[in-house]
Amino acid sequence: MMQIFMPLNFLGFVYREMKGSMANIEAMFALLRQQPRVRDRDSAPDLKVSKGELRFDQVRFNYTDDRAILRDVSFTLPPRHKLAIVGSSGAGKSTILKLLFRFYDTSGGRILIDDQDISQVSQHSLRACLGIVPQDTVLFNQSIRDNIRYGRPAATDGEVDKAIRMAHLDGFIASLPKGADTLVGERGLKLSGGEKQRVAIARAILKDAPIIVFDEATSSLDSSSERAILDAIRDISRNHSMLVIAHRLSTIVDADAILVLDEGRVVEQGRHEDLLAARGHYAHLWAVQQRHDND
Ligand code: ATP
Repeated sequence: MMQIFMPLNFLGFVYREMKGSMANIEAMFALLRQQPRVRDRDSAPDLKVSKGELRFDQVRFNYTDDRAILRDVSFTLPPRHKLAIVGSSGAGKSTILKLLFRFYDTSGGRILIDDQDISQVSQHSLRACLGIVPQDTVLFNQSIRDNIRYGRPAATDGEVDKAIRMAHLDGFIASLPKGADTLVGERGLKLSGGEKQRVAIARAILKDAPIIVFDEATSSLDSSSERAILDAIRDISRNHSMLVIAHRLSTIVDADAILVLDEGRVVEQGRHEDLLAARGHYAHLWAVQQRHDND
């Protein structure tokens, strides 16, 4: 899946230019001297989140005039539920995330958080209520602790330690020579894909945003990392609304709802067992993946 945080690798490169802490996407735009495509309307109010309900209401989108990418996509993620989006390559999964983070405005329909249209509120308040676990996490040449603290720069060591435990990173960190103070990155330890993703989970836990997006990596992880990530995601989804862009369907068998996207349309929606019983798109994707795993 296309990275929604495409500037992140570049960000690692320009990071040395930065003196202060950086935790939000506005800083990224400023840093990259890139204008966001959308602008706040004059005196846009801040988003006020009480429950953390996310709703896509007949959302339509096209990048160019000649091709519809999302066609009347509607779904509701109730507070503290886990909703997964699956679909073959090019179905429009990343586009849904880009619209949620308001990298673009919709071409039609609305995206609502707690009944407020996200196009009418300030972007900084929107992004403050969204946490993201991206496919590929950028780590800086600092300690693991400082890398996690990017989730909320003012967090205490105790809060970082708690996030480490909740992200199931404590066992790994205990095995390191200097624990959470071990340096990572070019001059230090190299983390595996699964460990990096758990650092991103710890960051998201620390940020404590009401809605968390988990953009699952396409590459498979070793089974212990995968287990730890699944456990962490399950724990987080008890207290947060969680949107998962899934590639490995085994990740989402316990989701409250699964949305199947095909060529920009929602073609099926339901729980894992119901979708299997329906013998439609999802059942087909599941069978293909089972065969692949067995091979
Ligand atoms: P994958 O799993 O392969 O990442 P996806 O379901 O996330 O796919 P999207 O990345 O949302 O799919 O892309 C949906 C469609 O939009 C694709 O046909 C893609 O080529 C097109 N698309 C994506 N980004 C752009 C863009 N910036 N400009 C024009 N078309 C785009």
